Amino acid sequence: MIVDSVMVNAKAYMRNAVTECSIAIDEGKIFKIGKEVSMPKSDVRFDLKNLLVLPGLIDVHVHLRDEGKAFKEDFFTGTASASAGGFASVVDMPNNEPVTMSAATLKNRMRIAERRILVDVGFRSEFPRNLGEIEGIVKEGAFGFKLFMADQVGGVDVDDDEALLKAFRIVGKFGLSTAVHAEDMTTLKKAEDQFKHDRKNDLAAFLKAHSPDVELKAAKRILGVAKQTAMHLHFCHVSTREALDVIVEAKSEMRLSCEATPHNLLLSSDDLKRIGILGLTMPPTRDRAQVASLWDGIERGWIDIIASDHAPHTLKEKEDGSVWDVKVGVPGLETTLPLLLTEVKRGRLSIGDIVRLLSEKPSQIFNMKGKGQLREENHADLTVVDLRRKFKIDSSKFKSKAKFSPFDGREVEGKPVKTFVRGQLVMDEGEIVTKAGSGKILRRE
Ligand SMILES: [Zn+2]
Repeated sequence: MIVDSVMVNAKAYMRNAVTECSIAIDEGKIFKIGKEVSMPKSDVRFDLKNLLVLPGLIDVHVHLRDEGKAFKEDFFTGTASASAGGFASVVDMPNNEPVTMSAATLKNRMRIAERRILVDVGFRSEFPRNLGEIEGIVKEGAFGFKLFMADQVGGVDVDDDEALLKAFRIVGKFGLSTAVHAEDMTTLKKAEDQFKHDRKNDLAAFLKAHSPDVELKAAKRILGVAKQTAMHLHFCHVSTREALDVIVEAKSEMRLSCEATPHNLLLSSDDLKRIGILGLTMPPTRDRAQVASLWDGIERGWIDIIASDHAPHTLKEKEDGSVWDVKVGVPGLETTLPLLLTEVKRGRLSIGDIVRLLSEKPSQIFNMKGKGQLREENHADLTVVDLRRKFKIDSSKFKSKAKFSPFDGREVEGKPVKTFVRGQLVMDEGEIVTKAGSGKILRRE
């Protein structure tokens, strides 16, 4: 037989080790991994020149925008950004225009995305006001649900524990997860109003309003609700030791996972003073002791996943107004992997950690079949990395529409040079080499 392609001279990360091998790909799947002489004939041949091949990376927290927010990012630029950063799959968040929170909005979003995406994309939905509509959203193929606790985005009152309990029970019944942004709206708004009243509009006031207590309060409350159900709860961007502690404690009692972001791991509130308002995120970057406790959480395996929380905005939105009006969040798809590979160089992470945190665990935790490991029969999602490539982060070169980064100017070592999605070469040396619509929608069955 003749397969679609064969890659020779690969150093593939498989079963906790790097192995020199060749990889045959057919119909989007890994057909065979083995010695070059054992490879079948192929239409296309790639010489990977002894570069490292990782199972296609997965970013479980991305805002692709599009629709009414296409001026910030659209499905093409967002997934181009993903592939340029070495990601073969991403999960989109629902705070769009319109908010993804019904079968109709989800269906429409998927219909638009289908023709434009370059990598595989799953879609989370917010909760509808009428909980009876959850079933329809699930049947439409939602990846899972998202609960934003810092403000009212979806249809369920984020302060109504009874309604949340009902919603979680339904989501649990369908075997899906809810990803939660844990910051307590009431406490947050109260602090914010007080600061505004006192005309305190600086970074320090923002950090105080978004205090570790605000995160902890929301984490405790939502754990209390989710514990009464069979639903899998996933904490987005854990940023404090206090929140991590209560999550770890609850892990034995329920289905629970959590993620941390590169900006919370690699920037502190001291860096924020230098970067300024552009570096504001929710939750914000914390002090050095908190950052150290997150690294401790990575080392102990308490933090399951690293996700970028890619949050594109226009530069104007980032610069307009005070800390209370400015759009918070930073793009992260094109900086995450180089930043983490640089930590490998520094000895703080291993390649195995990167594969676990950005591919194996996301695939296991969210039941993404065919992904997460280089193995025959799995999707041919491959992230090819040059560990020796040194460069300076330059947001003006991003594929994302958001041309800014709190990491601008940082020297990094290690770069994704090719991204394959289901056997299709999407990104080659920073260039997009395939057509819009080559990615697939990750529908949950
Ligand atoms: Zn987010």
